[in-house]
Amino acid sequence: MKLDTEIKFLKGVGQWRAERLKKLGIATVGDLLCYYPRAYEDWSNVVAIKDAPFGETCCIKAIVDRKPTAQKIRDGMTIFRTDVTDGECLMQITIFNSKYEAEKLIEGEELLFYGKVTGNTNFREMTSPSIEKAENGEVIRPIYSQTQGINSKLLVTLVARAFEMCSEELTDHLPVALRKKYGLLPYKSAVKNIHFPSDNQYLALARRTLIFEELLILQLGLLRLRGRSREFTNVRILKDFSNEFFSLLPFEPTGAQRKVISEIITDMAGELPMSRLLQGDVGSGKTAVAAAVIFSTYKNGYQSALMAPTEILAQQHYKTLHSILEGTGINIELLTGSTAAKKKKEIKAKLPSGEIQLIIGTHALLQDDVQFKSLGLVVTDEQHRFGVRQRAALGIKGNNPHTLVMSATPIPRTLALIIYGDLDISVLDEMPPGRKPVETYFVNSQLRKRAYTYVKKHINMGRQGYIVCPLVEKGETDLASAQGYMQELAQGFFKSYSVGLLHGRMKPREKNQVMSGFVGGEIDLLVSTTVIEVGVDVPNAVIMVIENAERFGLSQLHQLRGRIGRGSDRSTCILISDAQNGEAMRRLKIMTQTTDGFKIADEDLRLRGSGDFFVSGQHGLPVLKIADMLKDTTVLRRTNAAAAEIIASDSELRAQENKGLNVAIATLFKNINQAGFN
Ligand code: ADP
Ligand code: MG
Repeated sequence: MKLDTEIKFLKGVGQWRAERLKKLGIATVGDLLCYYPRAYEDWSNVVAIKDAPFGETCCIKAIVDRKPTAQKIRDGMTIFRTDVTDGECLMQITIFNSKYEAEKLIEGEELLFYGKVTGNTNFREMTSPSIEKAENGEVIRPIYSQTQGINSKLLVTLVARAFEMCSEELTDHLPVALRKKYGLLPYKSAVKNIHFPSDNQYLALARRTLIFEELLILQLGLLRLRGRSREFTNVRILKDFSNEFFSLLPFEPTGAQRKVISEIITDMAGELPMSRLLQGDVGSGKTAVAAAVIFSTYKNGYQSALMAPTEILAQQHYKTLHSILEGTGINIELLTGSTAAKKKKEIKAKLPSGEIQLIIGTHALLQDDVQFKSLGLVVTDEQHRFGVRQRAALGIKGNNPHTLVMSATPIPRTLALIIYGDLDISVLDEMPPGRKPVETYFVNSQLRKRAYTYVKKHINMGRQGYIVCPLVEKGETDLASAQGYMQELAQGFFKSYSVGLLHGRMKPREKNQVMSGFVGGEIDLLVSTTVIEVGVDVPNAVIMVIENAERFGLSQLHQLRGRIGRGSDRSTCILISDAQNGEAMRRLKIMTQTTDGFKIADEDLRLRGSGDFFVSGQHGLPVLKIADMLKDTTVLRRTNAAAAEIIASDSELRAQENKGLNVAIATLFKNINQAGFN
């Protein structure tokens, strides 16, 4: 049996269970061995009955005094009772309704009881304990997260079997010297001890080993992605044309914008390609930064590509850049899925000939037949929508072009360093002048009409607004209700206004029509699902109502709210929710208290835990099985150093002792492509 053998072939699994195991992410025997316990029960630390702390879970070894008595009570329920003794003290065992458990209580048998002792010094009792035979029970037992049809006990059996059959294949990924240096277990021993620890010390060591290994592999993988693009480039941006660019802007750049632009252009003069993340909260003016860099690239004789995650955004960028750069001689085109065939053909001919100097588009830009004459710069906007791989894919099109990645997801800097380990970071830490924080209120649905009236009032004053309903188009029912809700608003309360509807199931062309209507001001009110989430910029929109606000995560609410408050006027956001649950209320309250993206991101991480944060795949990073980037910071510092050391001496991981690392990187990164466009 091999690690990549399908799980259905493991004895005791079969087709039916294999299907259920898939829900737990287990497709192969190897996956099963990497399905680590969620918790442990420590049965190895046996205490005497008289020493057992009241009300705390513990393990007691005792002999059954006599066969339990069965007593029927109401509702067909049976209570089984007996006494057990450890030679010093007596304890009563009570079992509800389980004949199976009660039958384990054979007179004179020595057993282990795992549970909570209650009672007092004269009378001790354990109710519904877990029971095991003493001779095979004094161990630390794993508890696994279960799913329907697969319980933790079954997983224990299966993992033990898989380990028995495959343990020889659990060879080390880490070089011996490294393992020694950091005091880690051999891989096989780590896997054994994470499932079936010999003792607590070994368990701790196994955890440390596997966390170390996972983080090291992650960081090495990211460093290698970066290393690949770090071959010399012949794209050198030697002259900075920023001042000329600033004279084209309808506003004065902020200090932060100036600083970041100069940082980027300095970077692009070097002989290694730039690989940089531009982080800036929603509304901080990242587009102008991109435009400045694109302008200098153009003036130095190179082409640029700007890639956005949605059609709407690509279109908006096209309009914005077109209007700023008009008259400078630069030829700009837009390439998306809905570009007409004839136009597409023309663009694909004019890029390799160099007649187009800036191409803006969606992932349509990644197609093989999109080729360039001299691609110097690749900008990707709202990067968390793209996987690490896609980012690299566009880079391949040029001769090591410079890459700039723009993200509005405010991640604490320490974390960003890891998540974007393959990038340098610039931060836009200043908002354009005159911005007022969006005033945010949290109301229940009884005040919905008043919220609508408030929206009307603003529209009557010539402003625009958004109403967001969270019904993402998963099933037909959801879609139907989203559409129903939209229709109702458009034909009811806002009948005499121009209302635009926007949802994910619309054709790109229909979406564009609505969006340009809103940008152009012909549409007063945009009723939409979350498709407006990212990047849309309409400064005249000053009011937003978010329905069922409790269904959104904090970061998502922040991104949504970022659509307003983009001009110098006061904006208002109204969160409607009837949530009673504590965590949801807390989230909404935080939204009313701050507009600081970094604070909100911190809270979001705290409330959700980094688990969810990364599982969602929103950063295009591999999903970790055991490490937690927020909590395992000490290990992280170590792996950081170790990874740098390894790459410094063997950047391609070609050395014999590093072969295992290569295999592990490939395995960890094999799924990230799926986290691409959504
Ligand atoms: P984001 O960083 O969210 O992509 P945008 O680039 O869309 O932000 O900019 C938000 C708004 O702020 C736009 O309307 C833009 O024209 C405006 N803006 C950007 N920089 C400045 C500035 N220095 N002064 C005034 N307005 C600015
Ligand atoms: Mg933007």
